[in-house]
Amino acid sequence: MVPAASFAGKRVSLFGLGGSGIATAHALIAGGAEILAWDDNPDSVAKAAAAGIATGDLRAADWPRFAAFVLSPGVPLTHPKPHWAVELARGAGVEVIGDVELFCRERIQRAPTAPFIAITGTNGKSTTTALTAHILKSAGRDTQMGGNIGRAVMTLDPPEPKRHYVVECSSYQVDLAPSINPTAGILLNLTPDHLDRHGTMAHYASIKERLVAGSDTAIIGIDDSWCAQIADRLERAGKQVIRISKRLPLTDGYFADGTNLMEAVNGRYSRVAFLEGIGSLRGQHNAQNALAAVAACLRIGLELGEIQAGLESFPGLAHRMEQVGRKGHVLFVNDSKATNADAAAPALSSFNRIYWIAGGLPKERGIEPLRGFFPRIAKAYLIGEAAPAFSATLGEAVPYEISGTLAAAVEHAAHDAASDTGGEAVVLLSPACASFDQFKNFEVRGEAFRQAATAIDGVRPIGGPR
Ligand code: ADP
Repeated sequence: MVPAASFAGKRVSLFGLGGSGIATAHALIAGGAEILAWDDNPDSVAKAAAAGIATGDLRAADWPRFAAFVLSPGVPLTHPKPHWAVELARGAGVEVIGDVELFCRERIQRAPTAPFIAITGTNGKSTTTALTAHILKSAGRDTQMGGNIGRAVMTLDPPEPKRHYVVECSSYQVDLAPSINPTAGILLNLTPDHLDRHGTMAHYASIKERLVAGSDTAIIGIDDSWCAQIADRLERAGKQVIRISKRLPLTDGYFADGTNLMEAVNGRYSRVAFLEGIGSLRGQHNAQNALAAVAACLRIGLELGEIQAGLESFPGLAHRMEQVGRKGHVLFVNDSKATNADAAAPALSSFNRIYWIAGGLPKERGIEPLRGFFPRIAKAYLIGEAAPAFSATLGEAVPYEISGTLAAAVEHAAHDAASDTGGEAVVLLSPACASFDQFKNFEVRGEAFRQAATAIDGVRPIGGPR
């Protein structure tokens, strides 16, 4: 645990008592703060109280006495409207922060030179975070990984000068971390997502920009215009910017030339790493993730050989284009993490005969942005609330059925793919939707897919539950 000593002897209010909220409360208590915690869900309050955390309705609290208000990232800060507790904090002039901010303050106090890589972007955060941490660990560095992936940031081991931190940050976490200050900040890409929580694209982008603006070195994927503008703006402001591109040769920075990862210095190129033959890092999107990880690892002093070895031994993450089973020419791929159209695009671009399971709780732009991939789709199997809207977009362009449930979709898709005579046929769950209408989360959806696929007679499992 990282004891949050920056509030020792002070009173702090806290709202949101899920897993990370409880961890943050314990870190504040361990650091010597006096806290008062609350949640709109009485069960969460009861759980926190049972864990020894002081709870009380913050509506009745004496707000001006709080030195800070710590909010869980899941609770609305600005959109669609600020949560009532945020309004109370603001009304009393109390600063509103989150767990990543507490971590940043602790690191600066205890070990300001501890290498800290923070990662954000619309897609690829978890892959890049896991890959960067894996490369550091396999090079023998003392490495802590957490944030929006795995462990809550305040549950990591406390900062020491040689301890490396790799922290995934959602836009909500960045929004609550005004002094975020990584050694290397990574902004991978920006496309519309979570606009219900951020209002406009400009506001969403401005939050993400803060992570790289606060970093010693800003590593920015410039393949979309929002990120390209951020890179230009930060450079004009005097920040050290490293550009990466998954498709364009750059004059300075890192770019992908096929599966080769190239460094460009003043227009001169040299190969720094390669992805050829690395199954867990297939596709252009993974070239972007790998470029970011490579740039960050070079920035903090790793050798090229250590980096290549880490890339080659990366096992990949579950639910991201994960091969879960095979039966003859039929491959079953679990891409449950693709919760919007942009995230589904990489998988759809990676295979040619696709039996596509899609649907769930639809996102704003539906599947219209995926139209370019429709010729690769042999048939679509639509599930959940999005089915009617998706069927309207598919229209005459792609054969489809409304399967309703994931179980029916897997069964029908497997049956149809078995009689495909066109080479490798892929039963692909890449839903382009959130899962909440039918599943607790994308992990549960992905596991349900794995189980349904591997329960089919003759399917040989690949890997296993992680
Ligand atoms: P995040 O943590 O940002 O949600 P993940 O690494 O978990 O990202 O990947 C989520 C989904 O996005 C996966 O389905 C994957 O296919 C896709 N994806 C991964 N990296 C990228 C990228 N750099 N650009 C676009 N899509 C990506």
